[in-house]
Amino acid sequence: MLNFKLTKEQVELQNKVREFTRREILPVAWYYDELDEIPMFILKKAFEEGIMNSDIPKEYGGKGYGLIEGALAVEEIAAGCAGLATSIFDNSLGMAPVMLSDKEHIKKRYLSEIVKRFKLMCFGTSEPTMGSDVAGMRCLAVKDGDDYILNGTKYWITNGGIADYMTVFATTDPKLQHGGICAFVVSLDRKGVSIGKSIPKMGQRCSNTAGIHFNNVRVPKEDVLAEPGEGFVLAMKTFDRTRPIIGSFGVGAARSALEFALNYSKKRHTFGSPISNYQSIQFKLAEMYMKVETARLLTWKAAAEVDEGTVANVGASIAKLYATQAAFEVVSDALQIFAGYGYTKMYPIEKLFRDVRLLMIYEGTSEIQHLIIAGHLFGSYKPVMPSLDEVPIMRGDGLSGEFSKSVEGKTAWRCPMCGYIHVGDEPPDACPYCFVKGKAFKKVWPKE
Ligand SMILES: Cc1cc2nc3c(=O)[nH]c(=O)nc-3n(C[C@H](O)[C@H](O)[C@H](O)COP(=O)(O)OP(=O)(O)OC[C@H]3O[C@@H](n4cnc5c(N)ncnc54)[C@H](O)[C@@H]3O)c2cc1C
Repeated sequence: MLNFKLTKEQVELQNKVREFTRREILPVAWYYDELDEIPMFILKKAFEEGIMNSDIPKEYGGKGYGLIEGALAVEEIAAGCAGLATSIFDNSLGMAPVMLSDKEHIKKRYLSEIVKRFKLMCFGTSEPTMGSDVAGMRCLAVKDGDDYILNGTKYWITNGGIADYMTVFATTDPKLQHGGICAFVVSLDRKGVSIGKSIPKMGQRCSNTAGIHFNNVRVPKEDVLAEPGEGFVLAMKTFDRTRPIIGSFGVGAARSALEFALNYSKKRHTFGSPISNYQSIQFKLAEMYMKVETARLLTWKAAAEVDEGTVANVGASIAKLYATQAAFEVVSDALQIFAGYGYTKMYPIEKLFRDVRLLMIYEGTSEIQHLIIAGHLFGSYKPVMPSLDEVPIMRGDGLSGEFSKSVEGKTAWRCPMCGYIHVGDEPPDACPYCFVKGKAFKKVWPKE
């Protein structure tokens, strides 16, 4: 049975995070965006109020929330500031490989600590020369006794400049591609770790993004998350969990853009009338609303698949791709409704526009999501309909009246090129439409 109703607890969570956004985020988001600085006190409040880290399982002291709850919370924070949502929920990205691994001692060590103390765990697959092609990473992990020694640079790391720990993906040999990738939890105060300057960005300027360099960093065997050959799958499973959440960033930001544009359209007058009276504005708003609703449904569906433990990668890609593109279109339409004022820094749309642009890039670009969805279609997708050759289209000379009586005793042949149906004991010499030779015709009736 399908049910789109939220539980009482889920509505409570939604209201709590909504209230947090209005109280803590909205008043300061534009200020810190302008400063290009992360307001750490908001991250701390999100931790103290149990908004951050709520997905840590109960056995490690957490709330054990599922991805549906994650999607609800993220939508609300992103409605206030997508940059702060990126920073607040980056722990969920950083911790996902730990939660998905089978290393019980690592879960106990880190998840139990993070639930109690304000600690940040970031995530690193990307490098200066590699983002989409995860198997092409170069950061080296060389075995030294039971430990590993890390050398290389991870780039674009959200919260990289402020995090305590990092789930690092590295390779024992770049030539091995997927086969060489392993993963570790690295404490960022280890000898040999250098943190780069905060990378200046177009949008999401309330979030911190930095490069992290490893120079002969020793990682003890207790912190090995995935052995060589297991790391790539762990990274991909992580994205199955986190991509629907990027969709929720889009839903939240797009919802705000829609609401601001709706509000503005009632206030702005042209030619003696509020612009909300014009059908072109109403239709634009209707389209925006439809995209927000569709994006939310897709993200919830993908989140539900993860919570149920079913194969979730295609649903996650569809949710991310659709919701992030929809968000970009919705914000762009909102900007058009605000027109000149939308293009200024005096109104919220300009920041939303810059913020949502990133959603189509990180955690797998839109092009990579297209590749995954197309790969599924050409790979494991199971069609419901028979193949084109098998579709029982019956039309042709001499057929009329009740189907069974009309086709009784008849033989029909289909042209393989244009689909013409010839009714007769033998195929025609050639197709009367496209001239394909009759011997290429296929008998389609009676069914054998
Ligand atoms: C603000 C920000 C925060 C980030 N946070 C993190 C983080 O916390 N941790 C982390 O590991 N990474 C992070 N990233 C990195 C992000 O995941 C990558 O930027 C992203 O995966 C794209 O990689 P790239 O930038 O190297 O682009 P490239 O991989 O170089 O791609 C360039 C272009 O080519 C296209 N392309 C590539 N391959 C194909 C193909 N086979 N077919 C068709 N098109 C293709 C891409 O879609 C893109 O348009 C962050 C990035 C940003 C900007």
